[in-house]
Amino acid sequence: MISIDRTPIGAMKILSCYREVQQILAGKMPVPRTMEFFLSNDCNHACAGCHSRYLHREEQRFLDFETVKEVVSDIAELGVEGVEISGGGEPLLYPKIIPAIAFMRGRGLKVGMFSNGTLLDAETSEFLVQNLLFLRIAFDAGSRETYRKIHGRDDFQKLQENLEMLVSLRSKVSAGGGGKGRRKGKAKYGMATLGAKYLVSNRNWSELKAAAEMAREAGLDYLQYKVLRASRFTPEGETLEKAREVADEARELSDESFQVFGSLEKTKVIGRCFLNPLHPVIDATGNMYLCAFFHHRKKTHRIGNVNEKSFPEIWYGKRHMEAFKSTKPKECAVFDCPFHEAAVLARSWIVENQKHLEFI
Ligand code: SF4
Repeated sequence: MISIDRTPIGAMKILSCYREVQQILAGKMPVPRTMEFFLSNDCNHACAGCHSRYLHREEQRFLDFETVKEVVSDIAELGVEGVEISGGGEPLLYPKIIPAIAFMRGRGLKVGMFSNGTLLDAETSEFLVQNLLFLRIAFDAGSRETYRKIHGRDDFQKLQENLEMLVSLRSKVSAGGGGKGRRKGKAKYGMATLGAKYLVSNRNWSELKAAAEMAREAGLDYLQYKVLRASRFTPEGETLEKAREVADEARELSDESFQVFGSLEKTKVIGRCFLNPLHPVIDATGNMYLCAFFHHRKKTHRIGNVNEKSFPEIWYGKRHMEAFKSTKPKECAVFDCPFHEAAVLARSWIVENQKHLEFI
């Protein structure tokens, strides 16, 4: 009996990029599978350890909506499949967030969004559950006090209320929704996957299980956890050891309709990145970067600006190829990039072709 990983996140997905990886190996830029937008540099929270607060403070607040439409039209025409809206700052502060998502959907793209979830109202929530493929919300605490310390705002109660609203709206709009509002059946529009994201630090590790219980109780589909890196709050030594035990307990809460998954281990980088052309990022100033982990190397990762050149001009330009060829494994080792694990799989399965993929 084959066991299927039912979580929507995981390195195995890289195996669906067989053709793209072959193109990269042949020295050609493939069409990215996913385009990530940081639409907003503004945020209503002030999270401890947030890199964006320091990096984007002085920069333009929002990506120009006309530019968004141009880029979205270009990437849809090229064949990009998914758009991830994250930050940067809080996407719900983007003044045209609903028209932007509607435009993306109108161009046939699937859209997912990351948010702190505190700015939702009923109208926006209804639109989001109907138009997003997933909404992942920063949870980060199992108590009001810890949430306040981490997010810098006393919004834990508001977050709980908003999650309840999202789940109940999803139940209303999706056929067959029921029980406590947890999703039944396969992902489709009108029933966005609703997940929680827990960034484990030395301030909240002990509440991971409590948060997972709350997320399950609220009717969310999953809680994903990972370690806050490159911060004075990064858990280490004995704290990390204890955090692993809590994470083990939290994972046991997984059942048919709710999953707890993640890792507290540092990912390992093997060789230079050859997967970043699958998932570039455009920030609120229009700068395009090789990948989402550009913070500590803005200069080398920047490949152009979509206010100055079109997406295809940047994507297929000389500068992109140069930047792609000069990524440094050591600099990739700062954060737990999902492509580290994906690269191991892609190398053995596609590059070394141990399974003779020409034969099915
Ligand atoms: S951090 Fe490095 S390994 Fe990860 S996508 Fe970016 S360039 Fe690739």
